[in-house]
Amino acid sequence: MEISIKNMHEPTAARYCIRCGAAMERRFIASEGRERMVCPNCGWVHYPHLKVGAGVLIEQDGKILLVRRAHNPWKGAWNLPAGYVEIDEPPEHAAAREAKEETGLEVRILGIVDARFFNDDPRGNGLLLLYRAEVVGGELRTGDETAELRFFAPDEIPAELAGGAHDVLIRAWQQRRTGK
Ligand SMILES: [Zn+2]
Repeated sequence: MEISIKNMHEPTAARYCIRCGAAMERRFIASEGRERMVCPNCGWVHYPHLKVGAGVLIEQDGKILLVRRAHNPWKGAWNLPAGYVEIDEPPEHAAAREAKEETGLEVRILGIVDARFFNDDPRGNGLLLLYRAEVVGGELRTGDETAELRFFAPDEIPAELAGGAHDVLIRAWQQRRTGK
């Protein structure tokens, strides 16, 4: 499979050194065969890493819970309840936290479903981890980041799906359920 390398440096490339504040320079590192941002003053090298997102697959009566985004990117499009994992947080904890924030539901994480790379998010490239979850409490309600919430049957999946691997994961679920 050919992986596109668009979005590889921007917007996550450091333009100023976090140690000394000097302007960073793009240099080709021969031993690694790629360009990196390097501080010409103190030698600090910026190694950008993938952002990690975690989300939940909540199914009830054969339907999947999706949330409609209230903000950009992909404002108005539908995605799985999900968000970025904090630096000190296990991803399954982040998935349950985001489910609560975005849907009002308390969930129990049952296991991982899939993990997908994405390079179409203007905030940076990442990896979205999707966990199967069951509802154990709470009440369905929108949060600060969600304009609308709904369960969709496989043949009701909306056309406007968010990127950042959400579209891929939602269509994969749809395909598993319909066999198409
Ligand atoms: Zn520096």
